[in-house]
Amino acid sequence: MNDVRPPGPTALVWFKRDLRVRDHAPLAEAAHFESALGLVVIEPAWLASPECDPRHVGFLLAGVAALQRDLAALGLPLLVRTGTMPQVLQALRRELRFTHLFSHEETGPGWSYARDLAVADWCRSQGVQWVEWPQTGVVRRLRSRTGWAGRWAQRMNAPEAARAHGFKAAAGLQPTPVPTLGQLGLPAPGAPVPPAGEAAAWATLESFLAGRGRDYRRALSSPLTAAEGCSRLSAHLAFGTVSMRCVHQATQARIATSADPALAHALRAFAGRLRWHCHFMQKLEDEPALEARNLARTVDGLRPGDGVAEAPLDRERLQAWCEGRTGYPMVDACMRQLRATGWLNFRMRAMLVSFAAYHLWLHWREPGLFLARQFLDFEPGIHWSQMQMQSGTTGINTLRIYSPAKQARDHDPTGRYVRRWVPEMGTAAYPAPIVDERSALAAAKLKLYGLRQTADAQAEADAIQRKHGSRRSGLPPSKAPVRRARTTPGPQGELF
Ligand SMILES: Cc1cc2nc3c(=O)[nH]c(=O)nc-3n(C[C@H](O)[C@H](O)[C@H](O)COP(=O)(O)OP(=O)(O)OC[C@H]3O[C@@H](n4cnc5c(N)ncnc54)[C@H](O)[C@@H]3O)c2cc1C
Repeated sequence: MNDVRPPGPTALVWFKRDLRVRDHAPLAEAAHFESALGLVVIEPAWLASPECDPRHVGFLLAGVAALQRDLAALGLPLLVRTGTMPQVLQALRRELRFTHLFSHEETGPGWSYARDLAVADWCRSQGVQWVEWPQTGVVRRLRSRTGWAGRWAQRMNAPEAARAHGFKAAAGLQPTPVPTLGQLGLPAPGAPVPPAGEAAAWATLESFLAGRGRDYRRALSSPLTAAEGCSRLSAHLAFGTVSMRCVHQATQARIATSADPALAHALRAFAGRLRWHCHFMQKLEDEPALEARNLARTVDGLRPGDGVAEAPLDRERLQAWCEGRTGYPMVDACMRQLRATGWLNFRMRAMLVSFAAYHLWLHWREPGLFLARQFLDFEPGIHWSQMQMQSGTTGINTLRIYSPAKQARDHDPTGRYVRRWVPEMGTAAYPAPIVDERSALAAAKLKLYGLRQTADAQAEADAIQRKHGSRRSGLPPSKAPVRRARTTPGPQGELF
């Protein structure tokens, strides 16, 4: 990383999605400075963004309160301000002549990119040196995906940042109280906010590595077992209360030392998913437009609501899906669990999106915004890549259409899960199925498979694969085999 030894006296450490003291390179660097100060800014652009929900803000505020206590123990005050970043920096500069701004890189939605440009402008105009450090495997200005996995491993296996201590706090500025949701003009979250902050993140990780993860492979798919058997680290990774490197290294250490072969086997599967996290984030870093428009432009205009099709989105269908009253019990149960808890396992997330995309023929953007507000772990790069993958708009992935009935048979065979979340099932109070599955899927497949056969779609798929696809072979993209999406139905159709 850039060497920023202390010519200037004061460093401002800007905490964003990195609410921790351990493995925090900006904090470690600031410890060398004559004086330092921490800063968290609650930005109106975030609060007003369509992905933000009070549950995210509540989790952040609790994490900030914990961070403030942890930093105080190191001698570093943490200021919490509300406003746009340039305004906050300008006001602070009147009180403190900081010379450096330190932060982690962020791969966020459009509003955060615009904010970063404004911060860079402000720093240039004021002669403040802004230095950013990576905190995941995401590589900025990546020219080719070839070799990416090796770089990921290199970063994750590098020693964690030195533990910061011995701060000399900038004179005159005291830590400010963390605001409440009410003070920010927000209502209470619709779902309970789980324990936040660094200690909670480590407790979650340690319980998983100590044994909770033993059944990970088996527990992963069913909504009955996943809540306990998955790591539940996603919100902590999204808010940076633990670093990806620490999770990776702690997992590898546990695999190496575990006397329990079943646990080690399960943790290997878990370790692979940590790389997926960064692999998907890299896609948004490389193609910021994927949060708003189809990755494969050849599918533009296919589904109402994509901004190109003339027909508007079917609001009634969207509403029924969001409220968990589609008349498909497994779909409704999953949506209701998600709304009540802020979390759902991967397979059931995929089924919800597949249902919106294929059964209801909704474009992914509005369902994706709704889900982003529900997922406490909303991570833009993963979220939008997955929304597109599960909707069949990436051009390169197999079209996966989930059958709610099959998912119920496989993962809730006794119906316990569905009865818990849809107690009115089987009574007159429960709606009839919102669409006829057979005809809805036949129409969806006809349109999508037909389109994927075209020469334009296949040429586009090759280009997308080269830019975004994983490189399992390790060959350069020109020589690597292009993994084409399956374009014709397999023997059992393509229902999962
Ligand atoms: C439509 C859709 C949207 C999603 N949106 C998000 C999101 O906004 N934020 C998010 O963190 N995950 C998202 N996921 C991926 C996945 O569902 C969650 O990471 C996982 O369920 C979180 O629970 P966990 O931490 O217990 O996961 P574990 O199974 O314990 O996995 C450990 C970590 O690996 C990473 N991971 C696991 N599965 C995936 C995956 N398929 N893709 C990328 N990373 C993965 C996550 O960081 C996760 O915390 C989405 C999946 C789908 C289908």
